[in-house]
Amino acid sequence: MVDLKTQYERLKSDIDAGIREVIESTQFVKGPQVSRFQEHLAEYTGAKHVIAVGNGTDALQIALMALGLRPGDEVITPTFTFIATAEVVALLGLKPVVVDVDWGTMNMSVEAVRKAITPRTKAIVPVHLFGQCADMEPLLEIAREQGLYIVEDACQAIGARYTFSDGTVRQAGTMGHIGCTSFFPSKNLGCYGDGGALFTNDDALAEKIAAIANHGCKVRYHHDKVGVNSRLDSLQAAILDVKLRHLDEFTAARNHAAAYYDEVLGSDPRWLIPERQAHSTHVFHQYTLRMTGIDRDSVQQQLKEKGIPSMIYYPVPLHMQKAYQDARYKEGDFPVAEQLVRCVLSLPMHTELDNEQLEYITQTLRALQ
Ligand SMILES: *Cc1c(COP(=O)(O)O)cnc(C)c1O
Repeated sequence: MVDLKTQYERLKSDIDAGIREVIESTQFVKGPQVSRFQEHLAEYTGAKHVIAVGNGTDALQIALMALGLRPGDEVITPTFTFIATAEVVALLGLKPVVVDVDWGTMNMSVEAVRKAITPRTKAIVPVHLFGQCADMEPLLEIAREQGLYIVEDACQAIGARYTFSDGTVRQAGTMGHIGCTSFFPSKNLGCYGDGGALFTNDDALAEKIAAIANHGCKVRYHHDKVGVNSRLDSLQAAILDVKLRHLDEFTAARNHAAAYYDEVLGSDPRWLIPERQAHSTHVFHQYTLRMTGIDRDSVQQQLKEKGIPSMIYYPVPLHMQKAYQDARYKEGDFPVAEQLVRCVLSLPMHTELDNEQLEYITQTLRALQ
């Protein structure tokens, strides 16, 4: 599904130099590499503040803590996403309220969000699934009208650009009150371990986030709030700083592969290719087909026999996960997500796919019975 080895070999001299610099300095935690990377990522994304943390899940948790939400407050998330989005809501004693997604984009349905709002709703967490922005303009409008916070889960969408109706362009993670991303190795900007970051344009929130991520203190050993210990280490920051310089090139390589898949697979009536939205670029964290005229599991099995990996992201929607069983929800409540979990199949997608591999994958798919 990914080829991190070939990518490393291409960037080896710079990455090795960055790693060596950290080891020789022995500033493994809070080294200058971390602040340098935060500054570069702020420049790249256009976010006023970037606070690097231990992973993307921590970023989401810290975001909700910084907003001062209280137990019982409702937070709206899509039901078709990675578990982390709802996990942190539940961990903090907040109430996850799940909504259905759109069939074409697989992103949170704006209509469904509108209907899910109650007097206890405090925040919306749109997930920019598979690398394409959720429809942020109407979501931000709803949030403004209703006095809600927006925390973007941009873990799969770093570098995706959203265009507003007035022509303004903003990057994934920089449109809501807080944005969160992950540097898990297979993410579009991945480190060699765990990592994550929060984005915000709000000075007061940035200060709160930094304090919460650091045991709830601004002045060492003086703890104003209950916080957590979550930080990006210097080695990961050094690696990410090198890879950030190549992020546009990584995104272009992913888009090349996606365009190839679109071209060869687009005309086959047995599946649907990912729907592109006019308002967002796509950074193709995943290239996900919807199998509509052929059995998905049989396709996956046949691909496997030909040496082609594929993955089901995601096989179970949040409202049907055992840990998240809730009397409010039952099977059938979110028909689009329930249909998607039965038909989605993600193809190999990474920065090192060459035309020969793409041809083998696409021709194998087309030849399936
Ligand atoms: C990867 C991911 C996360 C969690 O990131 P980690 O760094 O693995 O904690 C959260 N949400 C989504 C949508 C993700 O893809």
